Amino acid sequence: MLGGTFDPVHCGHLRAAIEVYEALSLDEIYLLPARLPNLRESPSASAEHRLAMLRLAVSDSPLQIDARELAGTGVSYSIDTLHALRRERPRDSLCFILGQDALNGLTRWHRWQELLDVAHLIVATRPGFSAPEAPELVTLLTRVQTSSAQTLRAALAGRILLQPIPLLPISATDLRARIRAGRSVAHLTPPGVVEYIAQHRLYQP
Ligand code: ATP
Repeated sequence: MLGGTFDPVHCGHLRAAIEVYEALSLDEIYLLPARLPNLRESPSASAEHRLAMLRLAVSDSPLQIDARELAGTGVSYSIDTLHALRRERPRDSLCFILGQDALNGLTRWHRWQELLDVAHLIVATRPGFSAPEAPELVTLLTRVQTSSAQTLRAALAGRILLQPIPLLPISATDLRARIRAGRSVAHLTPPGVVEYIAQHRLYQP
């Protein structure tokens, strides 16, 4: 699962998910859009628009979408979603994928210590962000970090793997800024998403 606001989805998300899926030979890979994230401003585009863009973006790829958080109300917490997934899949190794920037903020997540009880964390390296410095995270990594996909498969949860991926310095913030400035976002996100944004006049000033 790669969680995010996807406001809008872009090639940085899509390639990160595919790189991790292939590098670790995962069986399935889902993008998990959040309704109202806890630690940041409300998304600019509605849940419906963000989901429509995700659907356009994942066609012809191994990526799937898990839209369960969009169906709820209020803030969605990753830990609650992971517990729900664990109940549905009691025997599967679950991997929650996040970018390196997100790892650095992990200790601010709701009930973050519980995450590793339910899933592994896969951290995709991201341009501009270095290894975590927070002492709690450094200690945690010393305890549970692994570099082996086999080790992940052998356990249902509890390990952290840092997965280097080819770096794409693309962010949704940058896409929104470009659109506001009347610039093109072609090739930063799939063509269907570029068209959808234009058609629905999303992210305009
Ligand atoms: P924003 O710029 O609005 O903060 P974002 O581009 O970081 O958005 P999110 O939807 O917040 O996108 O990100 C979802 C997840 O994808 C996060 O774990 C984030 O670290 C990761 N991610 C986003 N862009 C990239 C990228 N270019 N490379 C690797 N991981 C990425």
